[in-house]
Amino acid sequence: VTTVDPLEEKHGVEIDEARSARAETRRPTAKQLEDILFTPLRVLDHGFVRVVDYMGDDAAVVQAARVSYGKGTRKLNEDRGLIRYLLRNRHTTPFEMAEIKFHIKLPIFVARQWIRHRTANVNEYSARYSILDREFYLPARKHLAAQSTQNRQGRSTLLTDDESRSVLDLLRRDAERAYDGYIELLNEDDTGAQIDRNRTGLARELARINLSLGFYTQWYWKIDLHNLLHFLRLRADTHAQYEIRAYAEQILSIVKLWVPLTYEAFDEYILGAVSLSRTGLRVVCRLLNGEKVDQPSSGLSQREWDELITVLGMNR
Ligand SMILES: Cc1cc2nc3c(=O)[nH]c(=O)nc-3n(C[C@H](O)[C@H](O)[C@H](O)COP(=O)(O)OP(=O)(O)OC[C@H]3O[C@@H](n4cnc5c(N)ncnc54)[C@H](O)[C@@H]3O)c2cc1C
Repeated sequence: VTTVDPLEEKHGVEIDEARSARAETRRPTAKQLEDILFTPLRVLDHGFVRVVDYMGDDAAVVQAARVSYGKGTRKLNEDRGLIRYLLRNRHTTPFEMAEIKFHIKLPIFVARQWIRHRTANVNEYSARYSILDREFYLPARKHLAAQSTQNRQGRSTLLTDDESRSVLDLLRRDAERAYDGYIELLNEDDTGAQIDRNRTGLARELARINLSLGFYTQWYWKIDLHNLLHFLRLRADTHAQYEIRAYAEQILSIVKLWVPLTYEAFDEYILGAVSLSRTGLRVVCRLLNGEKVDQPSSGLSQREWDELITVLGMNR
């Protein structure tokens, strides 16, 4: 496969330049996030996430909650307690005071899921204006699985080695052919130079229409911390498709560096928490009182019952 490395030389130089620049500021900065600022962090085979800017930190959340004239922060354990209280009680606006801006490279099918999160600001790379790279997503073998029969939006058992080899061959062959067709329609190489002088190429905005969902696109994505946590709750969840989850997990590791107290509270009260229905809670109370409860006597549907006993770690 011919691939262009997303961290190719020219981008590497630009990133090094950006990383070596220094600006004096009175604004608070997050030391650990500064350490990885501008650096692309790999996701999938050709994708990445990199932080290009941010505003605020844990202290900005505390400052807004206390409506303070100064920093608003007190002792670390008081700030930590306040952030945990805010998150636990869904007092969300203080988390909207911190913002972050990413540069993300991602397959088009992932971008289609991602763009549904409307509470962000997006600027996508224009394939009307520029030529897309010969880069398409090929899943790793360990992710090539059959359709789940339990969950219509999920995967089940892995394909055999032979099956996954033919899947990958087909995906690669079709993507290569689509990209060759794209270049032929454009009649331009990836530097914009004309290939055949005796032929007129098609406009970039039309030449792209035969490329498939596995090709990579790029965008700048800016979002506040509250809406980012909402995105992460949905997309770092095991029910989210693996490919978008891989990005969400990388972003989670960035959030941990940026706002460690908020990350800790989010992990405790949202990521690691479950919500119980009224009937589900009643089942838990009955179990705690030593009662024997089964699905028919629980008042829960079979599906909800299965979910509850999985969450409680009980045997079926
Ligand atoms: C596991 C999973 C499966 C999914 N399956 C499907 C699917 O099959 N088909 C499909 O189409 N989508 C699907 N989605 C997308 C999902 O329905 C949401 O569109 C997506 O998760 C964005 O969530 P959001 O609207 O809460 O986020 P945002 O757009 O960031 O909005 C955040 C919050 O702001 C409020 N808000 C924003 N805009 C509006 C508005 N216009 N009106 C009212 N309130 C607003 C809402 O309270 C919303 O929760 C799926 C998502 C997940 C995580």
